[in-house]
Order: sequence, then C-alpha cells, then structure tokens
Amino acid sequence: MEKKQRVSLWYFILAFWALIILQEVYVASQHMDEVPYSQFKGWVQDGKVAEVSITETMIYGKLKEEKEKSLGFQAVRVDDPDLVRLLEEQHVEFAGVVISTLWKDVASWVVPILVFAGIWFWLLRKLGQGAGGGFMRIGKSKAKVYMEKDIPTRMKDVAGVDEATEELLEVVEFLRSPEKYTRIGGKIPKGVLLVGPPGTGKTLLARAIAGEAEVPFFSISGSEFVEMFVGVGAARVRDLFEQAQAKAPCIIFIDELDAIGKARGSGPMAHEEREQTLNQLLVEMDGFDPRVGVILLAATNRPETLDQALLRAGRFDRQILVDRPDRKGRAAILAIHAKAIKLAPGVELESIAAMTPGMVGADLANVVNEAALLAIRRGRETVQQEDFQEAVERVIAGLERKNRVLSHDERRRVAHHEVGHALIALSLPGSDPIHKISIIPRGVAALGYTLQLPEEDRYLYTRTELQNRIAVLLGGRAAEELVFGEASTGAADDLQKATSIAKRMVKDYGMSELLGTVALDQSAKPAFLPTADTYSAGTYSEQTAQEIDSEVRRLIDEQGQRVRTLLAALHPVLLSGAKKLLTAEVMTGEELKALLPPKEEESVLQ
Ligand code: ADP
Ligand code: MG
Ligand code: ZN
Repeated sequence: MEKKQRVSLWYFILAFWALIILQEVYVASQHMDEVPYSQFKGWVQDGKVAEVSITETMIYGKLKEEKEKSLGFQAVRVDDPDLVRLLEEQHVEFAGVVISTLWKDVASWVVPILVFAGIWFWLLRKLGQGAGGGFMRIGKSKAKVYMEKDIPTRMKDVAGVDEATEELLEVVEFLRSPEKYTRIGGKIPKGVLLVGPPGTGKTLLARAIAGEAEVPFFSISGSEFVEMFVGVGAARVRDLFEQAQAKAPCIIFIDELDAIGKARGSGPMAHEEREQTLNQLLVEMDGFDPRVGVILLAATNRPETLDQALLRAGRFDRQILVDRPDRKGRAAILAIHAKAIKLAPGVELESIAAMTPGMVGADLANVVNEAALLAIRRGRETVQQEDFQEAVERVIAGLERKNRVLSHDERRRVAHHEVGHALIALSLPGSDPIHKISIIPRGVAALGYTLQLPEEDRYLYTRTELQNRIAVLLGGRAAEELVFGEASTGAADDLQKATSIAKRMVKDYGMSELLGTVALDQSAKPAFLPTADTYSAGTYSEQTAQEIDSEVRRLIDEQGQRVRTLLAALHPVLLSGAKKLLTAEVMTGEELKALLPPKEEESVLQ
C-alpha cells in the first residue's frame, strides 16, 4: 500500500513538470516579433494596428496588413494612461488577458512544495531502508532476511569436506523426518556452527543442506545486523526467529556470525548495539524449541573471537570443522567445477590437485575459471593441462606483467636473486621442490619469483624444516650481496616472511633454547590456520620482549651465515644459472639442477 502511494505521488510531480514544460514549449513556438513600446504606439497612431490583447506585463497585437499570415508582434507594456483612449480613437479591437499569470502564480508556490515533499519522502525512505524495510517499519527485517525456497544446491556440489558433510546429513535427516528423532526422545542440536578458513565452502554447505532437506532457507549475514540505530539489530533478530518459526521446518543461516557474536566487552569497538543484538540472539536461541523443526546454522572463520555464551550447551553446541581440503578433496572439487568447462582429453586433475596444497574450494574454483579463460585467450576449443598449470601460477603469484619494463641492471639483479633462492632450496634436503624460476614480473609487487610446490599436504613442520625455510628466504638477498656487493629493496618481502617464521618459532613453538618451551603468545588464534605469517603481540614482560627480539635476530643471523657459506661454494653455478635465466626468463628446477656439478651436489647434500 505504501509503495502504491509513493508511486502515485511521483506520477503527480512528473505530470506537473510535464505541464509546465509543455506551456513553455507552446509559448516558444508562438514566436512574435518584439517591438519597442514607442513603435507600437506609433503604429496605433498611424492606424496600422488591427487588434491587441493586453496582459499585466505584455501587449500582443497584429497589424492590419498582415493580419492573416503572421502571428503578430509583442511589446513590453508601459504604464501609459493614454493607451486605452488612443486605441478607442483608432477603433482597434482590444482585450485584457490574465490567464497566463494565474498559471504562473499557482506554479510558483505549488512546485517548490512538491519538490520539497518529494525530497522529504525520498530521505525518509532511505533512512527507513537502512533500518530494515520501509520507513515506519524500523526493526522489521523483511528487506534483509532472504527467504528462499527450492534451493538448487545439493550435497554433490560440495566436495573435499567429507566429515562436515557427514555430520550435516544428520541435520538434513532430522528436517525430513523429525518424528524419528523426537519419538526416541533424542535432542537435536539447536545450533550448528560451521567453522573453517575463508573459502572452504561454509556458505555453500549451508545452502546444500537446505537444498537437500527441501525446506525454506532464511539467510542473513552477521555484518548486516550492525546498524546505525540502537535496537534495530535486536528487533531484527526477534523478527527473524518469528518469521522462521512460522515457516517451520526450515533453516536459519547466519553467515559471518563473528560480526555480531564477538565476545561482549571486547575490542575497541565494543558497542551497545552489537551487545544488544547478541543478547537478543541468545534469548531467541534459548526460547525456541528445535522440535518444531527450525535448525539454526551459522558460519564463521574466527571462532576464537566468539562470545563464550554462544558456544554453551543448548546454543551452538555442535561445531563442525570445514577444513582445507586434502589432495583427494581438491581433485574432487576441481572435478565439480570442471564440469562446467570443456576439458581436453588427457587432462589430469589429480596432478593439478597435487600442485595446489593449501588451496581452498574458492581458490580451486578460481583456478578452473582462470584455466578456461586462458584457453579462450589462446584460441583453443578445450582446456588443456598447460592452461591449468598456468592458472595455478596465476592464482598463487598473480598475473604476469610482461609490459613492466625493468632496466638491464635490475633484471640482472632479479635473476641472481631468484637463482639464489632456488640454489638454497636445491641444496637443503627436505625443501619443497622448485617448480619454476621466473623473472617475468607478476602480481602487484613481485619482480621475479621462485615457485616451490610441496609434494604433499603438510600438517607439521620440524624445527630443521623451519630453519631451512628461513634459509631459502634469505637466499635471494645473500646472492645479491655476493654478486653485486650490496643488497637491494627487492628482499623486503623475503625478510618479512623469514622474520615472521622466526618469531613464531620463538614465541609459539618453543624452539628457542634461551626462552625455553613456553608459549609466549597466549592470544587467541584460529586453530585451523597454521600459516607461518600470522603473529600478534603477546603478554609478557619487557625483558622477555627483548629476549624474543634477540632470539629472532639470532635465528635469522644463523641462517644468513649458513646461506652465505652455501652460496659462496656455489658461486659459479649462481652466475651460470642467472645468465641462463636472463636469456630464457623462465626455467625449471630441473634445469637449474643440471648446472650443479655432480660432486658439488654431493658435498652440499651432506
Ligand atoms: P566460505 O563461506 O567458507 O567462505 P563459500 O561457500 O562462500 O566459502 O565458497 C565460495 C565458492 O567457492 C563457492 O561458491 C564454490 O564455488 C567454491 N567452493 C568452496 N568450497 C567448495 C567445496 N568444498 N566444494 C566445491 N566448491 C567449493
Ligand atoms: Mg561464506
Ligand atoms: Zn626473494
């Protein structure tokens, strides 16, 4: 109803403007010669004028000789008391006209009012929308709760997260035949929390469950709860549950739960609104009875920040880990997405899966898409293995930027830097194999890159392996120093990564003798993200902080020393490798290995 009203108002305003514009056009089309008042008066005195009409401001008239053909003339009216007498004397037909001024008078006050009213309505609607639905309906969540029926997603569209799938199928089973569960008296979990790194398919899984169970799916994203008006988020939560219970059996899905579920009173942004929303969510969760067939699903990639109250029994009491897929899982995910594209015979998705440890479903979907785009660019009918390989590199290292022109000196430096990395990796047993060395700039910052791809998924790293990683990272800079006598800015990123690994060795893994086997960083960290490059400030004394810094420095210096010794022994190979790379731009690890003198390779491997 409200909508209808608004539309008719707009029509009214539009019609008004159209009228005014039409009038202007009409007047413009009625073009007349404008003459000075004195000339007009002269014509009257000479008896040339046939007829005139007089408005408050203008005089319009026609001459006797051209009465038929022309539109006549106009003159600006002057306050002239003689005019009427003169017209009568000359027997000119005359009349006063007021109609046009009336129009203008009306328009001059109606139009501004309408314009203001329009702006006012528009603003109110804007505000109203921000707060949830039409204005006057603040707190109703109609506009933001997406209720979907007949979701096409199925469990077969999700792969590589088998454990999560299994657990969730139970939920589907419950939604299909709740009696089976309620008869025995078993309690179905109220809330199921999907936890895992970004892009692993949490949102996809939630949709797949709704699709399988063939029930309505209410979804809302946590970030949408964060509103400017206090109380709106809470009202919306209430409304969400109200709507859902009316439609049971159904699924409520809150994506990115951490946006509202952050621990109360934590962080600099701990504000009233979020706490109210969270409290309301807790109240609703306690209040609803899962036996009516409403299942609450939520997803987050930061479970460690959630308020403990949310995780208590009777709330999100079941947590399901949606982890990064393993090699088999990645192959399955690739196969799902590859269904949409034309594969050349002989494409081995298995080997692509082997090349992509650590990638999540979203990355793999991206790889498939990039491969298809590359195949199109190369004018192929089908996507080949080669396209996939290039696509993996693109996703890992960014786009090639062939038209970034480096000077000759810079290219030489980059070549030695990259060969430095690669030689260290080849020399240290247990390093990930070198897939490719390149001096074609890629991505935002990389001028060259050495792509190491692990042979298998890794869940643990030993101390030696971490030390070796630091060594490989330092190899680039050491090679520059060895060949050119000084370092360049090109090693900044390497140093950052090396430092971060060293820091975690000291603070998190207890791998420093000096500080002992103590976890110095007690801040909450996601358990499923064992990346070496996240660290945060911990809580320890000033003195410990100093010790950490010196230990980190020692670890890095130690490796730096080792790398310099290794490279000095391989100096000739460094030079010949870089020379080859300069002409070829790209080389494989095998090609570099071939340059190593056999006996030297032996001795290095000791
Ligand atoms: P999340 O919610 O965990 O961040 P999404 O569910 O939004 O991740 O995943 C983004 C996209 O990545 C999906 O739409 C899908 O195309 C792809 N994807 C992610 N995980 C998987 C998976 N396990 N199987 C198939 N496709 C996946
Ligand atoms: Mg998501
Ligand atoms: Zn480097």
